[in-house]
Amino acid sequence: MTDYIGRFAPSPSGPLHFGSLVAALGSWLRARSQKGQWLLRMEDIDPPREMAGAADDILRTLERFALTWDGEVLYQSQRHQAYDAALTWLQQQGLAYYCNCPRKRIKALGGVYDGHCRGRDLDGRDCAIRLVNNRGVSSFEDGLLGTIVTDCEFAEEDFIIHRRDGLYAYQLAVVVDDAFQGITEVVRGNDLLETTVRQQTLQQALGLPIPAYLHLPLAVWSDGNKLSKQNHAPPIGETAPELALSRALAFLGLTPPPDLWQAPCPTQLTWAVSCFQLSSVPRERKILLQES
Ligand code: GLU
Ligand code: ZN
Repeated sequence: MTDYIGRFAPSPSGPLHFGSLVAALGSWLRARSQKGQWLLRMEDIDPPREMAGAADDILRTLERFALTWDGEVLYQSQRHQAYDAALTWLQQQGLAYYCNCPRKRIKALGGVYDGHCRGRDLDGRDCAIRLVNNRGVSSFEDGLLGTIVTDCEFAEEDFIIHRRDGLYAYQLAVVVDDAFQGITEVVRGNDLLETTVRQQTLQQALGLPIPAYLHLPLAVWSDGNKLSKQNHAPPIGETAPELALSRALAFLGLTPPPDLWQAPCPTQLTWAVSCFQLSSVPRERKILLQES
């Protein structure tokens, strides 16, 4: 066992589809090939977007693929105290403030918030909480893609860390938990590439360690749209896992040889761990899938 600790952090908004299988498989392969741990975190902090039964369904699907995790699953719904503590700390440091700007106002600004409520000292009723973002991180080194530079306006925005509807923002929960779980490298899909700068900004503000980041190519439909349950990405739990796994391996640049194509999942995975190398993972941010 090495010090490497990776993770997969699905949101239970629906069953796993091919895109999320790729993220799970890529992070699993990376952790196992480093002889590290692979932790599982259920990001169930947004009930309006969740689907009943999806969390269990995701766990059962991972088991069918033989993507085994270490230790207990961490549920974000059980972590409110930790998020509250982080929020309170930021407020005490003067690094957070209330904002009641209507969405319409921010839209009129072109979508990036201008810090309007920073000195207003609102009482918190019907308010979101924003981070005082004094020196936003605007670039980082991605383990696969090299230097990633984001738009400065985006990087410097006072983004939301607690929502007006009372829910914690993903950005806050994700950094608190990556630190809590001791994650050394975050491996996930390219849809979250840009948000990395915000997470690093928050890690700095909270004095948390900054893990390494590595973003895998994203599977998109041939029309360029992201796979999601909104556009009917077929849940992979319903098809033969052996075939979906062979396809996901091929997607990551690791096409199984003919005698292993559609072999039992543990057999495919043992082979894949033994020859997994970052250099064979495609560098594209998106890869088009043919609808079949
Ligand atoms: N829960 C997020 C999602 O499913 C992923 C979070 C992450 O990997 O940082 O999109
Ligand atoms: Zn405001």
